[in-house]
Amino acid sequence: MIPYLDLRAQYQSIKPEVDTAIARVLDSTQFVLGDAVAGFERAFADYCGVGEAIGVNSGTSALHLSLLAAGVGPGDEVITVPFTFVATVSAIGYAGARAVLVDIEPDYFTMDPRKLEAAITPRTKAIIPVHLYGQSADMDPILAIARKHGLTVIEDACQAHGAEYRGRRCGSMGELGCFSFYPGKNLGAYGEGGAVVTSDPTLARRIRVLRSWGEEKRYEHTVKGFNYRMDELSAALGVAQMRRADELLARRAQVARWYDDALAPLEEVERPQAAAWARVAWFVYVIRVRRGIDRNAIMAHLAARGIAAKPYFPAIHLQPHIRTLGYGPGDFPVTEDVSARTIALPFFNALTRGQVHEVVQALKEAIHAGIKA
Ligand SMILES: *Cc1c(COP(=O)(O)O)cnc(C)c1O
Repeated sequence: MIPYLDLRAQYQSIKPEVDTAIARVLDSTQFVLGDAVAGFERAFADYCGVGEAIGVNSGTSALHLSLLAAGVGPGDEVITVPFTFVATVSAIGYAGARAVLVDIEPDYFTMDPRKLEAAITPRTKAIIPVHLYGQSADMDPILAIARKHGLTVIEDACQAHGAEYRGRRCGSMGELGCFSFYPGKNLGAYGEGGAVVTSDPTLARRIRVLRSWGEEKRYEHTVKGFNYRMDELSAALGVAQMRRADELLARRAQVARWYDDALAPLEEVERPQAAAWARVAWFVYVIRVRRGIDRNAIMAHLAARGIAAKPYFPAIHLQPHIRTLGYGPGDFPVTEDVSARTIALPFFNALTRGQVHEVVQALKEAIHAGIKA
């Protein structure tokens, strides 16, 4: 049995720090937006190389507030991709705007800058590139197009803590960057959590006001706000993880290399590719089977062997809820092709080399069984 994700060993490795942090928060009886959140915000801003970080209660809230702070509202359009987690597209709907999707490019699965400009209309207000699987989108052309048209860039960096684009940290290149600290993420808390990062003090102030009931001052509600505050436990645990971030990411890179080596002889499988611009912060390990191979049969075979894998991601524009945007099959051929062929293999810090070989062995058997079928 190999699970998709196992956080126990990760917790064990930082248990003393985590337990001390939890005890300190409980002892302070300051549970929301206290010293731990302030400390976390400073540490995370430094980590990302930006002026400020604002702690919120999820990556979804971070996206929602970033859109509002950028002035996005009803009647506006926001461009993003259909190959992402549903939250990216849903957050645009929360802000009252319409999501306009552009396809991904076929090698790295991130926004295809060549398709971006054709999607811009007079209503477009913002672009949300998604840094997928720990790898940055191709930001220079995206930023250049945004500047030319006066659009705000909000990076969805929920899968890209510590990842870099040509030496710049993901989240630091657009006006705003959004992160999630959901437990399974590269830097996860042990509950829900998120952050917006920015070097623009005006945007930062707006987000601080919006995350806590639109209060400029206590009981002075200047705008319609939300209860999107970060809690102290998440912040304390986030800080504990961040101290070990380099080590945790190095460990994940090691697991990825084991997979790369073990999969190299398997020509039916394409391994994840690193773009020339990217320093990948391995979040998941996603392979793509060659065309003509039945991905679902392979997944079923792995499941029968007790190996948990995921079809990651399904094309978002084909989800029932998103279909209300009016998109349908055939609209984003690259996304549809990629999403039918990708498999996320078990991937976490504590995965051993032996387990990696067990997964790859099962994959080999599955491919042979699948091809014969
Ligand atoms: C996880 C994730 C989100 C949402 O983060 P939550 O903290 O779960 O709300 C948004 N976008 C992407 C790409 C994600 O992977």
